[in-house]
Amino acid sequence: MNLTRIMPAEEKEAAVSLLYESPTGIRFFILMRASKDSSVKTYRTLIKDILAKSLDLQILSLKEISHIIALKDKELWEDVFETARKIKEKVYGRRIVLFAPLYLSNECVNDCLYCGFRKGNKNARRKSLSIGEAIQEASLLAGKGYKRLLLVTSDHSKLVGVDYLEKIIDGIYKNTDIRILHINTAPMRVEDFKRLKTSGAGVYQCFQETYHFPTYKLMHPSGPKADYEWRLGVMDRAIEAGFDDIGMGVLLGLYDWRWDVWALMAHCHRLIKKYGFGPHTLSVPRLQPAEGSKLNEARYKVSDSDFKKIVAIYRLALPYVGIVVTTRESSEFRDKLFLMGASQVSAGSKTSPWGYIEDSDTAQFEIGDKRSLEEIMEKIAELGLIPSLCTACYRENRSGEKFKHLAQKQAIKNFCQENALLSLKEYIEDYASRDVKEQLIKRLKEESAKSRNGISEKLDLIEKGKRDVHV
Ligand code: SAM
Repeated sequence: MNLTRIMPAEEKEAAVSLLYESPTGIRFFILMRASKDSSVKTYRTLIKDILAKSLDLQILSLKEISHIIALKDKELWEDVFETARKIKEKVYGRRIVLFAPLYLSNECVNDCLYCGFRKGNKNARRKSLSIGEAIQEASLLAGKGYKRLLLVTSDHSKLVGVDYLEKIIDGIYKNTDIRILHINTAPMRVEDFKRLKTSGAGVYQCFQETYHFPTYKLMHPSGPKADYEWRLGVMDRAIEAGFDDIGMGVLLGLYDWRWDVWALMAHCHRLIKKYGFGPHTLSVPRLQPAEGSKLNEARYKVSDSDFKKIVAIYRLALPYVGIVVTTRESSEFRDKLFLMGASQVSAGSKTSPWGYIEDSDTAQFEIGDKRSLEEIMEKIAELGLIPSLCTACYRENRSGEKFKHLAQKQAIKNFCQENALLSLKEYIEDYASRDVKEQLIKRLKEESAKSRNGISEKLDLIEKGKRDVHV
């Protein structure tokens, strides 16, 4: 295996120990690096300097990330959380973007031990949506107010290959009010990615699951997903095909999170170095029970307190990156994460194909937060944040390096603030029920009063029936 493919060359030496050592080994490695510097500065000063660098919206080096990962001091962790909060506010303001996943198929040729869709799950009730069915599900979601969906497929190139995906994307755009479709599929060839990009897919998302090679092999015993390197190179191929918005992550619970989080950061650094931009989003999927899974317990359980640390580390390490927290997590916990660093959240999700119309086929995993879109929007507003259904960056082609540039200049915050409010206004006009309308209107008024860009005229346009108003 070519280690430099995920690690920048200067980190290669570290990577060798990282990829093959035990969790104790990596902890030792991280601490060794941390203690080396503490002879020069006090540890506290070192961490404070790192936090100041993040707050200045600079990307942290892998060494600096190691220091945060290795942090033990509870008081300093509180400073880390506070800094994560401030960075989020600085880059993204108070908005939280909402979306729903749309599962297209649970027929899969892989046998990932942790997944309900795995080939060996003989009791699974299998289904792949027809084009018409996918449009029906998307219409139902659009009817609730969603504007962005994440298409999720199992791995089955004959049933849900690129021909199928092209037709689905085209059909949904032409027949529903959905404005952007992101996509989570198995790794593909560059030619196939090119077709997906041309058909109008937004973010391409794929998780490495774990970077720890022996664990990867154990978890993915057969099928195309057993090929670690093919998966490792997926973002290079997607970028080569023109995807400048990519979503990355590790499945938390498969291996020691410190190890995997560091390796993911190393992967991001390599992409940034090579292409000038890294991931548009980082997701934090945490292992959930799944019907028919062969892994009933996470091998390396990630506690809520560690989960919070991971969100903060991502926020600090790559300040401009969007952090996606899905309905895998419980409602109480998600409410805390809305305030802490999450910038995109799913809502009202089902993880089985046809699940929105009829909840009967095998789901990928159990849902923790079962609240509807409306309930979550109300909660976000109640927390003093702004629920957003905005898709303006995609309408205006603000992606990849362009997005990063704007985010670093904090311009995204201004665009997004206004666009989030405009999308909220549309939601209030078209979809909000009496139960939540009052709360959402109150929140919209509070925030639009602060706006200096003549937002009231745009809000009036929406009231008069104009749609997709954005800057
Ligand atoms: N076929 C695509 C691929 O190869 O990546 C999609 C896989 S799956 C539909 C999407 C993601 O769900 C996976 O990448 C994995 O991280 C996550 N996932 C799978 N089983 C899970 C479980 N039991 N709990 C939480 N997340 C899970």
